[in-house]
Amino acid sequence: MSTTLRRHEMFIGGEWTPSTGGDMQEVVNPATGKVIAHVPKGTDKDVDRAVNAARKAFDGGWSDSTPRDRSERMLKLAEAIAANGDEFARIESENVGKPLAATKSEEIPPIVDCIRFFAGAARVLEGRATGEYMSGFTSMLRREPLGVVGSIAPWNYPLMMAAWKIGPALAAGNTVVLKPSEWTPLTALKLAELAADIFPPGVFNVITGDGEPVGAGIVRHPGVSMVSLTGDVATGKEVARAAASTLKRVHLELGGKAPVIVFDDADLDKVVEWIKIGGYFNAGQDCTAATRVIAGSHIHEKLLGDLVPAVRSLKVGDPMSDDTEMGPLVSEEQVTRVSGFVERAKKAGAEVLIGGARIKKAGSWYEPTVVVPKGPTDEIVTKEVFGPVVTVRINTHIPLVNEMPHGGYKQSGYGKDMSIYSLEEYTQIKHVMASLD
Ligand code: NAD
Repeated sequence: MSTTLRRHEMFIGGEWTPSTGGDMQEVVNPATGKVIAHVPKGTDKDVDRAVNAARKAFDGGWSDSTPRDRSERMLKLAEAIAANGDEFARIESENVGKPLAATKSEEIPPIVDCIRFFAGAARVLEGRATGEYMSGFTSMLRREPLGVVGSIAPWNYPLMMAAWKIGPALAAGNTVVLKPSEWTPLTALKLAELAADIFPPGVFNVITGDGEPVGAGIVRHPGVSMVSLTGDVATGKEVARAAASTLKRVHLELGGKAPVIVFDDADLDKVVEWIKIGGYFNAGQDCTAATRVIAGSHIHEKLLGDLVPAVRSLKVGDPMSDDTEMGPLVSEEQVTRVSGFVERAKKAGAEVLIGGARIKKAGSWYEPTVVVPKGPTDEIVTKEVFGPVVTVRINTHIPLVNEMPHGGYKQSGYGKDMSIYSLEEYTQIKHVMASLD
């Protein structure tokens, strides 16, 4: 059954509501190019409504709720996501173009596990020391929630990125205003449907719309204490600049350009297998995609000889088919972006060994591509393409676990997702010192 042309509303203060401006925006299935839903085009006023609702919920009891209460509600949310796992996977596949089978097996279980992990972690969050550090006084450390957290998510893993953000935020006792990407808002809205019966009104809000005014409006809003963004490096810099005026805490998970370094004595079969998975999973639209292969001079030619047929063997097609390994890119804009990179690389003297063109059919399709660049400083080697283009780590790329932190270095931003380290970032430390007299 395909998604009907549903007109969605936003979820603010425990209620479903249209945008104050009344405008809607289209949501497209990139595998067909067809419109599959309409969502409200949010405004500054909607941001204000959502932040006020979240602030009211924070002050009205959520910030004082016990860890056990928050934990039990989050476990209910995890169970609800698991029970609706097939539905979430179908919506995500239709909205992002992800192969359905991989979405069910590789994305939904870790999403459920993420919420379960933070439900458990809520109960073991601790300040590290209590004691007498000055005679006559006793000190203790508390970890307190920050307030309203603005969670701004990208389109490549819409539900997973939402889970990585709301898990630690809610577990620590913050309330959340989640803004999904304008291209992929449907699983966030489905999540709100489930959360509506689990959390008090205003604890979890979802508002839809564009980066400006909705994302930027969240960053500007004085009632938001922290902004967590997963997105492009340029967006991250913009968010950090804008957040400075209200001194908000900023948590940035930005783009990447992960290298694969292949030594001359590497096991070629394994290398090719990992590049095939790590470079083309989610059509390469992954911040940790294995996109930049740097091979030793003795193995380089042989690696290319083995990689090209492996890439040719990728099954590209209908995301709903069980054997599909790669679906479309998320949008026309993304096809234009990827193809721009490849065309500029060709002009700069790069050789395209396979792929290098859009697939001519309805929807947003691009061939799995291998490019041999002219030199190490070429744009295609140094900038994130975010598509199925490999320019040919320690042995793996995609696997993640909720107990361990995930996040970037340098231009990939700061702030860690997942793990107890993420939970700590959604809190502030307070030192309480009391006189013993
Ligand atoms: P994007 O930066 O275009 O958009 C991300 C979100 O920010 C969207 O919801 C968008 O509406 C919003 N936004 C845009 N402009 C804004 C502004 N001025 N203020 C506030 N919000 C704004 O990124 P994208 O294209 O959706 O996602 C792809 C990027 O995300 C890639 O660069 C990828 O590497 C990165 N990413 C990083 C990780 C990670 O863990 N490091 C994970 C997934 C994706």
